[in-house]
Amino acid sequence: MQVELDKQEITELLKSSDRERADLLNRAQEIKDAAVGNKVYFRGLVEFSNICSKDCLYCGIRKSNGKVVRYNASDEEILAACRFAWENRFGSVVLQSGELSSPAFVKRVDDLLKGIKKLSKNELGITLSCGEQTLETYQRWFESGAHRYLLRIEASNRDLYYKIHPNTEKHLFEKRIEALHFLREAGYQVGTGVMIGLPFQTYEDLADDLLFFKKMDIDMCGMGPYIEHEETPLYQYRHLLKSKQERFDLALNMIAVLRILMPDINIAAATALQAIDPAGREKALKVGANVIMPNLTPCDYRKEYLLYEDKPCLDEDAELCRNCLEARIELAGSEIGYNEWGDSKHFQNRK
Ligand code: SAM
Ligand code: SF4
Repeated sequence: MQVELDKQEITELLKSSDRERADLLNRAQEIKDAAVGNKVYFRGLVEFSNICSKDCLYCGIRKSNGKVVRYNASDEEILAACRFAWENRFGSVVLQSGELSSPAFVKRVDDLLKGIKKLSKNELGITLSCGEQTLETYQRWFESGAHRYLLRIEASNRDLYYKIHPNTEKHLFEKRIEALHFLREAGYQVGTGVMIGLPFQTYEDLADDLLFFKKMDIDMCGMGPYIEHEETPLYQYRHLLKSKQERFDLALNMIAVLRILMPDINIAAATALQAIDPAGREKALKVGANVIMPNLTPCDYRKEYLLYEDKPCLDEDAELCRNCLEARIELAGSEIGYNEWGDSKHFQNRK
């Protein structure tokens, strides 16, 4: 079932439009159904803090954006969001934040992990997305109950990586790669991904990103369109961007080709898809994605976790969000894997 494609073939597929595109998307859907089935897994997303030490040029909550009101949700608020997930039969939660590495931050995440395990009687699966950390920190968090980790490489082309992370005191491409290896060593299901449609990014770069995922033998992927944010340095290059619709279509092509290349991994339908098309995540489910991350961040904080413009679901409370999502997923023809962790089959097959 697994198909080998070279860079040239992938590039052509990514560029495909109209009829060829319909073939690509259908093929990806068939491969997904055969390899991982028709189920969609929920990961309740809790964006627990927007305090970040980094300065990624694209991100609305980068350290140097002085217009953001910084927050740190309380333990009670975070645990209440996780309890909501558990009571509503979501199999897992994702704890996401800006990147910090102080001992206090490491301990806080550790305590939260233990708290979530306790409140859910060990039933909730936990994914972390808290940036680059040491091997020891990753190991500590793993031992406290996290078992999946998302750390996007953002761009696997080193030159492009440094165009969007030029401050080498804070950002080193090699360190990012090393962190992905640490995660594997610590025992996690490892997820990475890229933004699609960045300024300066070519189709060839995206083809290389997919080949990078394959070479790294990743277990999960979260990738979505890059969306500009006015208060970030990358905004000055918006004249170089493809239209939002083109970025959206390209993101679907990326998901479809990745599903063909790596049939048994988990692929998330990124929230950024929904910022361009209200049905964006459901469309992604039809072309290869099998994970959705409903936003459970307490509403008061959502407007301060604006990574990009038009981020969706700012006003909806968690329950509303869930009900509309449930109906839309069923309409898209998928079944929801309630109470299931929905671990990466690729990870299980490797063991
Ligand atoms: N701080 C952690 C990290 O960077 O891994 C986790 C949180 S970070 C906000 C999660 C992801 O948001 C990043 O990996 C990045 O790809 C995405 N992101 C940030 N700014 C974005 C933008 N303008 N458009 C689309 N995605 C963006
Ligand atoms: Fe911080 Fe993550 Fe945003 Fe980079 S992408 S500025 S690390 S929150």
